[in-house]
Amino acid sequence: MPNLDNCQQNFTWHNWNGNLTATPSNYCKPTDANDLPKIVLAAKNAGKKVRVLGGGFSWTPVVPTNDYMIDMTNFNRIISVDMEKNLVTVEAGMMVGDLSVELSEKYKLSLETETVIPYVTVGGAVALGCHGTGYNQGTYSDLVVGMEVILADGTWRTFTVESDGEEMMNALRVSLGALGIIFSVTLQCVPLFNLQVVDGRADMVDTINNIQKLVTSHDYVEVFWFPFNKQCWIKTWDKTPKPATESEIKWGWDELKTYLEISTFGKFLMDRLQNTPSLTPLIMQFFSFLMPENKLADNVIAESSLVFHYQTSYLQVWDMSYCINIPNNDFTNVQKAWNQVVNRVNALKDQGLYPQNMVLHTRYIQNSSAYLSPTVGNDHTCCIEILTFNGDGRPTSQYEDYFKQIEQDWIALGGKPHWGKAIYSIDNLKSMYGANMAKFLQIRQSLDPNQVFMNDFLYQVFQMQPSK
Ligand SMILES: Cc1cc2nc3c(=O)[nH]c(=O)nc-3n(C[C@H](O)[C@H](O)[C@H](O)COP(=O)(O)OP(=O)(O)OC[C@H]3O[C@@H](n4cnc5c(N)ncnc54)[C@H](O)[C@@H]3O)c2cc1C
Repeated sequence: MPNLDNCQQNFTWHNWNGNLTATPSNYCKPTDANDLPKIVLAAKNAGKKVRVLGGGFSWTPVVPTNDYMIDMTNFNRIISVDMEKNLVTVEAGMMVGDLSVELSEKYKLSLETETVIPYVTVGGAVALGCHGTGYNQGTYSDLVVGMEVILADGTWRTFTVESDGEEMMNALRVSLGALGIIFSVTLQCVPLFNLQVVDGRADMVDTINNIQKLVTSHDYVEVFWFPFNKQCWIKTWDKTPKPATESEIKWGWDELKTYLEISTFGKFLMDRLQNTPSLTPLIMQFFSFLMPENKLADNVIAESSLVFHYQTSYLQVWDMSYCINIPNNDFTNVQKAWNQVVNRVNALKDQGLYPQNMVLHTRYIQNSSAYLSPTVGNDHTCCIEILTFNGDGRPTSQYEDYFKQIEQDWIALGGKPHWGKAIYSIDNLKSMYGANMAKFLQIRQSLDPNQVFMNDFLYQVFQMQPSK
């Protein structure tokens, strides 16, 4: 029998956003890695499923199961660092933000890309192909050069590009937790670097009309638009050999969230967003006005890890993100995807509807060769997302139709969804991925023939029937 001392029965789990709940028969949070294969075998022998839990930050039901849920967050250490090759091997339950701080402080290393949110685990960021920004950067998963995995038969395997080839790694890099438990990953790092940061406002229409120039002339670019504003907010970061001017920076988002939750006026505004939606345009203008500017390029220089995780606290939002191809630096579809949102938001306002009361946001990255990466097969990719406040029980009926319409717009442009954010067209995913999903499923079948690492969502995504 495995040591199930660290497993609880009748545990109710819910994700960070609170839109998902599950009551796994065994919720296990082991401290001893040797228990992991034992738990998998116990589940397999009982004909039960296993789902792995990272930080629980995904909106989509990638984690829920009624069987065994394994929480990996006790496995949260750096295992080793190869200073010659700039490689770090890290336990999958470590938070990406903690990893970046330790890498920079102890080893003077950095990853070249990160998710903004620091609290997701390395395993969760890798399993869903998560990303930050950087036109010449891939996703977090693309940094993976090796991985230790506990497979469905309880064996512990180390996979590397050298020993297992690119095909296997392309399946493992974005696995949706459907191939096994990732115990550790080896990530390619680079020597620590500084970034020069400029936050500024610009005319929204001009910015989108000239988006190619903006994105291709900086190392990292993000563009935000609070609906109903003439201006958008732009972040650019460029690598610099100059020393850091800052060791702590106020970036705007954290201050906005604190303001909205703590100050009397902020609370009043959030209440109005829910209860007097016609004030949404005014409030959006106020939010946009609160965003900071620092237009002098030399003004703000900071270490990459600090810059990448520029937002550390989050309002409860509903979020949908699609990855749109940018073929040969042609941003036409990006412009269309952006303008579809602007046009729909304005048209709905004329009907007295305000389904989006938080930002439209774009980030720009490279392609990936991972079979299930939403950027697979692209040249470059624009990750475009819409966010709307859903806290305090705002009914989904107030924004879901709008999200579904935008999703159809973006699918028509060839977009693929972020696996962790809202997805409505689940039945289309298999055809969207075509041959890439077929290759992934072939490898999945060979590693997990008894369908141990599956749940209802994955059966729908893969259009598979549960085996008897
Ligand atoms: C406020 C907020 C901000 C966000 N910002 C970003 C962002 O900047 N960029 C971005 O791309 N995404 C972002 N996301 C989405 C988020 O990064 C993803 O949903 C991510 O996968 C969550 O990681 P997690 O550790 O919480 O994993 P979970 O949500 O717990 O799990 C996600 C998936 O990973 C699998 N998994 C986790 N650990 C393992 C493991 N050790 N072995 C095998 N499978 C595993 C799970 O089974 C599941 O399929 C954000 C989400 C929120 C709520």
